[in-house]
Amino acid sequence: MISKILVPTDGSKAARKAAKYAVEFAKQTSAALTLLSVIDKRFVVSQSIPSVASPTHLIEPIEDYLKQAAESYMEEIEILCKHNNIQSKAIIRSGHPVEVIVKEAEKLKVDLIVMGSHGKSAIKAAFLGSVTIGVIHKEIKIPVLLVRR
Ligand code: ATP
Ligand code: MN
Repeated sequence: MISKILVPTDGSKAARKAAKYAVEFAKQTSAALTLLSVIDKRFVVSQSIPSVASPTHLIEPIEDYLKQAAESYMEEIEILCKHNNIQSKAIIRSGHPVEVIVKEAEKLKVDLIVMGSHGKSAIKAAFLGSVTIGVIHKEIKIPVLLVRR
């Protein structure tokens, strides 16, 4: 029986499509959804702030901004869940997306992970996104459902 589903999301069109699929799936299984957004700290430091220093007074506002953005795109899905009488909650974590997704999936003892085949990256040629590849290559017993863009 599938009673708990983890839906990792980066706010991309593909992730939104996956979340909508998860909502439809939950309607049929009466499962509860946990939405998870991972703030990738490596990205914040390496892409946004040059040089070796990682001054917290510069990083914190960026992290806050990313958290706010994550809250707002997850809220959109939570509203959709409410409309469909599906139990849902949204969580935000920091770290490496693959590691955090797998860790949370095991901690929450979910029965299924529903995610997009792709995310925010502009590289359209890739067969699958690197977060997706990372999750499906991890040695975990939890099934993963990929929703294609
Ligand atoms: P890449 O990141 O490798 O350049 P991409 O952005 O197209 O490529 P992924 O990042 O692998 O592809 O995204 C695939 C799916 O992984 C998304 O649809 C989403 O479900 C999940 N995902 C990606 N990044 C995150 C994140 N930071 N937090 C939660 N879920 C994520
Ligand atoms: Mn990505």
